[in-house]
Amino acid sequence: MTETLHGVGVSHGVAIGQVRHMGTAVLEPPAQQTPSAGAPREQARARQAVEAVAADLQARGNLAGGEAQAVLEAQSLMALDPELRADVERRIAVGSTAERAVYDAFASYRALLANAGDYLAGRVADLDDVRNRIVARLMGVPMPGVPDSDEPYVLFARDLAPADTALLDPTLVLGFVTEEGGPTSHSAILARALGVPAVVAMPGATQMAEGVVVAVDGSTGVVLVEPSEEQQAELRRIAAERRAALSASTGPGQTSDGHRVPLLANVGGPADVPAAVAAGAEGVGLFRTEFLFLEDSAKAPSEDAQVEAYQTVLEAFPGGRVVVRVLDAGADKPLDFMTAADEPNPALGVRGLRSLLNHPDLLQTQLRALARAAQGLPVYLEVMAPMVADRIDARAFADACRTAGLKAKFGAMVEIPSAALRARSILQEVEFLSLGTNDLAQYTFAADRQVGALARLQDPWQPALLDLIAFSTDAAKAGGQSCGVCGEAAADPILACVLTGLGVTSLSMGAASIPYVRATLAKYTLAQCRRAAAAARATDTADEARAAANQVLSGE
Ligand code: PEP
Ligand code: MG
Repeated sequence: MTETLHGVGVSHGVAIGQVRHMGTAVLEPPAQQTPSAGAPREQARARQAVEAVAADLQARGNLAGGEAQAVLEAQSLMALDPELRADVERRIAVGSTAERAVYDAFASYRALLANAGDYLAGRVADLDDVRNRIVARLMGVPMPGVPDSDEPYVLFARDLAPADTALLDPTLVLGFVTEEGGPTSHSAILARALGVPAVVAMPGATQMAEGVVVAVDGSTGVVLVEPSEEQQAELRRIAAERRAALSASTGPGQTSDGHRVPLLANVGGPADVPAAVAAGAEGVGLFRTEFLFLEDSAKAPSEDAQVEAYQTVLEAFPGGRVVVRVLDAGADKPLDFMTAADEPNPALGVRGLRSLLNHPDLLQTQLRALARAAQGLPVYLEVMAPMVADRIDARAFADACRTAGLKAKFGAMVEIPSAALRARSILQEVEFLSLGTNDLAQYTFAADRQVGALARLQDPWQPALLDLIAFSTDAAKAGGQSCGVCGEAAADPILACVLTGLGVTSLSMGAASIPYVRATLAKYTLAQCRRAAAAARATDTADEARAAANQVLSGE
């Protein structure tokens, strides 16, 4: 009998195959003691293992490129952390084996991180992954992670560490399903960047029997367990239809009656540019510059290094628009030189623009680097600030742009409900708005975007979120200014139509989603999009909003 399970679809496409679970065995080395005469040998063994794992993570990063590279390099640096190393050596000196010393040293570091506040949850998963790799190497057992298999499979896991997601081989891993992780979590964003179908926040994923056949629809979030031959054929037909529609759709983003909505790419650095160009992105709607800074969380990259990275991205879109977000540090993206380690609630703390305004030199260096990078290039550079709360924030950012002599439009991200409610006053200071729906949902519903159990509240179809989007687009329209979306909401093809109906002027997303959004938008008129938006806003829940919009668009 086929069973139908539901999670949150976060990366389009259909995958049919056997379940394989991620190697999650927690390796706990025995607490046996070594004679102290063996300590130097054990310390050397520990050092070698740490260095080999750090080099492996670095190499995986180089292979993966893009946003994944920054994450893997950060993990590599964690492995090499001098305090951790000193702690491991101390433990060995008083009698531990190398593997036990690594295990215990990481455990105490983990406890420190966990006590430092919720925002480090994401880094704790990365830290555990580093520890497991070092311990596995020392114990001579297979690395935890993606299963070894020559046959393609559907990967099931509690959650995926960035190190594994980045290396998924799309020819072997047909798709993945996780029990944790929200729609805007790091793993979901990386899955879209890879173009692998994925469903997250699916209860029971870790209990699924190994080897059973499942069909995963990354667009709807539905997972069929032991689907019948007919169901498989039907899903394959739908997938083929979607693929055909995708390859038939080219050119700029527009509705069927020619209302233009530029489709832009979200990038984390130069490595993401080729995929964006290949997907036909009309420019960049969100350049997450913090990935350049996360490469070494101890210090900021030099002005020259920044100029080089910015130039590579700007050069790729001649005649197009590139919207660069200044450094968004803090909360789930802490930087040692900017982020206080003892904030009680970092998501509500000194992050984004707040942090930059406390470090005016850093902001000026970045703005100067952007001005230098754009000089002489035929590109429309726009610069925006993350986490703008009110007009005072917007004015401070505009002043900083003027001080740096930046010849670019400057704008504000709408990620805090106050900014949406008072968009008109923010637009007195800046020239455009960009809706960061990931954080806007997090703050509207008081639901941490990293917590899978709160996926219902992070659903971008929530009517309250649609209302805040409408406040923002109305304000921009009244002032003749633009208001795009660069959060994950833009990557949902039907929601993209609703956003268009709400008056959004551009849609920016991971490159892999662009063809889906382009093909769907091209099927409907602007009037249909407006009716779908009105129908969605007239409901009370995300599911009702989704159903109402689909009903309008399918003409039922
Ligand atoms: C957002 O919050 O929607 C956004 C685009 O920024 P990030 O996902 O990088 O926080
Ligand atoms: Mg954000």
